[in-house]
Amino acid sequence: MSADASRIVIAGGGLAGLSLALALKQALGDGVDVVMCDPALARDPNGDRRAFAIAAAARRMLNALGVWPEVEPKAQPILDMTITDSRLHDPVRPVFLTFDGAVDDGEPFAHMVTSGDLTASLLEACRNAGVSLRPTGVKGFSNEPGRIAVTLGEGEPLSAHLLVAADGARSKLRERAGIGWIAWPYRQSAIVATIAHERDHEGRAVEHFLPSGPFAILPLKDPGTVPDTGLPHRSSIVWTERSDAVPVLLESHPEDLLLELERRFGLQLGRIAFDTRPHAYPLSFGIARSFVGERIALLGDAAHVIHPIAGQGLNLGLHDAAALAEIVIDAMRLGGDPGGADVLDAYESARRRDITAMGVVTDVLNRLFSNDALPVRLARDLGLGLVDRMPGLKRFFIREAAGTTNRNAPRLLRGEAL
Ligand SMILES: Cc1cc2nc3c(=O)[nH]c(=O)nc-3n(C[C@H](O)[C@H](O)[C@H](O)COP(=O)(O)OP(=O)(O)OC[C@H]3O[C@@H](n4cnc5c(N)ncnc54)[C@H](O)[C@@H]3O)c2cc1C
Repeated sequence: MSADASRIVIAGGGLAGLSLALALKQALGDGVDVVMCDPALARDPNGDRRAFAIAAAARRMLNALGVWPEVEPKAQPILDMTITDSRLHDPVRPVFLTFDGAVDDGEPFAHMVTSGDLTASLLEACRNAGVSLRPTGVKGFSNEPGRIAVTLGEGEPLSAHLLVAADGARSKLRERAGIGWIAWPYRQSAIVATIAHERDHEGRAVEHFLPSGPFAILPLKDPGTVPDTGLPHRSSIVWTERSDAVPVLLESHPEDLLLELERRFGLQLGRIAFDTRPHAYPLSFGIARSFVGERIALLGDAAHVIHPIAGQGLNLGLHDAAALAEIVIDAMRLGGDPGGADVLDAYESARRRDITAMGVVTDVLNRLFSNDALPVRLARDLGLGLVDRMPGLKRFFIREAAGTTNRNAPRLLRGEAL
């Protein structure tokens, strides 16, 4: 690194922060010192068995960053999708909508990837690119003329041009920057677990809309045999319940919990068993009043938290990383300041509309589908049935979910290198 290189400190090595660090370092090389700080860097990423749906646009970005070839063998393409709408005790779950999971040229609209696999590959790529990985938190910061003074965990000072707060939904750095947070709870929690099953999922994702919220079955790459269960296939579930019902469910006898799971999961995939311990995440909506402060940018969940009904939260965070990387890189190539007001303003305007729109869509979908009132059920089932009969509209929805319709998307999301 050259002596007068700019320094960018990223607080938070989740998937959004790591993607940004890699994009910046790959494009700018010795011209920038990218410092990634997170106490979680000391932990083994492979322990995280949560799985995410990575949309086609985000996959193109990971490919452009050179990470996808390593992740792909462990990723399960979603080949089609089935949506049902019923009550829990209904004897059958009528299918209202089916989607073929491909966008243009047969590219799957999304892949299921475990957080551990993706984090491990991004970390390795960051290490190889020369990102400075510091297993410590960012404690605070203060503004100085032309710089931001960052304080790390043990009190170590670090002077930078830009601080990126990628420290998750409960971002302390956002709070410290005095940036407001508009938020409301959903009074729902999502129980997440990996389920082993007897029959092949054939790459099908299923979403059952139930009165307490959506219950999603998302296919994972087959492991051969799932250890301790003797079953050959795996899927991830996102089981939404009213928050007050969740502790009782999770503390119930394992056989009772499995019975409750079977009532929702159904028998299509044969015998089932828990492969991982179920874990509950309280759900809420949140959006920062501004995505930037003086020499600070918010990224990923630190900037916005949405309902997981459409599996888009991380995809938005990767979109933030692609947008911020492009704006910073373009400015620095012209000799600009990566933390300058023009750069930060451009980032704010590049992301505000998209994030607000996705927040509204997921909020409305959740209110519409987690509702047992008969007129609402009839109206939404009519809507689902109509969409199912319109192939053009279905193609539009699937391409929207894949994130491939926006011609002005950042270059990385179009699969182009920076
Ligand atoms: C049930 C559920 C299912 C979901 N499914 C999907 C899906 O299928 N697809 C999808 O796109 N999204 C999904 N999401 C959303 C997704 O999980 C999040 O949007 C995403 O993980 C956020 O990533 P991030 O990097 O912004 O933050 P995080 O992953 O929260 O990372 C923040 C990091 O910051 C670190 N940190 C905290 N404080 C500091 C500090 N002071 N200094 C340094 N580091 C710090 C933490 O240790 C952590 O590693 C789901 C969410 C839920 C709840």
